[in-house]
Amino acid sequence: MRYLSTRGAPSNAPHAAAPGFSEILLGGLAPDGGLYLPEYYPQVTTSELERWRELSYADLAFAVLAKFIDDIPPDDLKTLLARTYTPQVYGNGRSDSPASEITPLRWLERPNAASGEGGLALLELSNGPTLAFKDMAMQLLGNLFEYVLAQRREEINILGATSGDTGSSAEYAMRGKAGVRVFMLSPHERMSAFQRAQMYSLHDDNIHNIAVRGMFDDAQDIVKAVANDHAFKARYKIGAVNSINWARVAAQVVYYFKGYFAATSETAGGNAQRVAFAVPSGNFGNICAGHIARMMGLPIGRLVLATNENDVLDEFFATGVYRPRSSAQTHATSSPSMDISKASNFERFVFDLVGRDPAVIRKLWAEVDAGRSFDLSGTPSFARLPEFGFVSGHSTHADRLATIRRAFETWGVMIDTHTADGLKVGSELRSSEMPMVVLETALPAKFEETIVEALGRRPERPPALQGIEDLPQRVEVIDVSVEAVKAIIERELH
Ligand SMILES: *Cc1c(COP(=O)(O)O)cnc(C)c1O
Repeated sequence: MRYLSTRGAPSNAPHAAAPGFSEILLGGLAPDGGLYLPEYYPQVTTSELERWRELSYADLAFAVLAKFIDDIPPDDLKTLLARTYTPQVYGNGRSDSPASEITPLRWLERPNAASGEGGLALLELSNGPTLAFKDMAMQLLGNLFEYVLAQRREEINILGATSGDTGSSAEYAMRGKAGVRVFMLSPHERMSAFQRAQMYSLHDDNIHNIAVRGMFDDAQDIVKAVANDHAFKARYKIGAVNSINWARVAAQVVYYFKGYFAATSETAGGNAQRVAFAVPSGNFGNICAGHIARMMGLPIGRLVLATNENDVLDEFFATGVYRPRSSAQTHATSSPSMDISKASNFERFVFDLVGRDPAVIRKLWAEVDAGRSFDLSGTPSFARLPEFGFVSGHSTHADRLATIRRAFETWGVMIDTHTADGLKVGSELRSSEMPMVVLETALPAKFEETIVEALGRRPERPPALQGIEDLPQRVEVIDVSVEAVKAIIERELH
């Protein structure tokens, strides 16, 4: 499988072959500023679907990912996947969840054949080491990085900024990995005690926590400034693991298959039965994987995109207008991992929507990159939207509190604030002929404050994470300074 850029040729060289999976694994954007996508979406046959239904998570991941990865020998890929998707790695979640399932499905309302009611379920994606769905892809990325770097005798220094989820997920995935160092910037004293403890209690030699006396945006700006210093970037082999990384999107495709099989295991329709997925969305990475699973032929009836008050994407699906917000227009909400001003993976979907025409994408993203909006309403592309199965809605803080209460009182399940956004919108957009599977993107233990506000009690904390606030922490505190960060990287590499 070769990869192309949403903005045109992946390489300026006229006859250069398009890159393969391993080549784009360590990079971020394509050289032309676009995002990588496979040249075509591999299709799954009905007999494959039948066979895949019986597979373990790791074997299913192999079946799916082998269609996208042909430059890692199959046996090696199989080994990497078997090492990644284990009950040990994904057994940190709810005490009553079967860890062997990796992503267990929890019915809230079972399907009812007699009444034709499709049922409502949670797909648990948050049982990994940092209790958020990002572990599903990031843990694989850690193993893939280590493998590919060893093959190429290369090293990488991952530089990132985090306000919580991504940074900790990256650190837990990369800790102890040969050839990889992580330098993670976070806003000093602006994360919860739990988030700080999760990151700063790691003592691995290759993990460097740097707290910046400023806001998340200051940390982000430092990362951009370092990456824009091309000489420094090349000399110190600076890389990133942000949400546009293709391998992360690809790894997420797997659990749509897993969720589909689990939701239809008791249905007479088998693989003819359609399923709807509701996805709490921010940068469009998670739901982009659902779109790809659907393009591969998985019978996904609906992709329900849920936003919080930051409703850039909901607005697009409702009106055809994509209007990136400024940071001043971006709300700080109680589902913070969805607080985005624009959605970095959205370009991938629009590429498909406009018939995979890179010239159109270049024009549209010239606007976006200049901070302006674009409007597809009235275009033939926007008229095709229903073909892609997307519907959308948004949710507010009051909705989250009400949904957390409803889930607890009705089904006895405590959910986090992001999952609440998904459940709220998914419940509104249910249709009786298919099950609605809401993706659980984090566990409530990560967002104690809002859970206490909604329910007047604290969420259960998985045993592995009890008392982590009391562990010794390792973090270097610096002023908002690009030079200070460069100095730390130089120091560690000499
Ligand atoms: C990252 C994240 C999201 C948003 O996912 P995208 O792939 O950015 O759309 C939702 N919920 C949680 C808990 C997250 O960490």
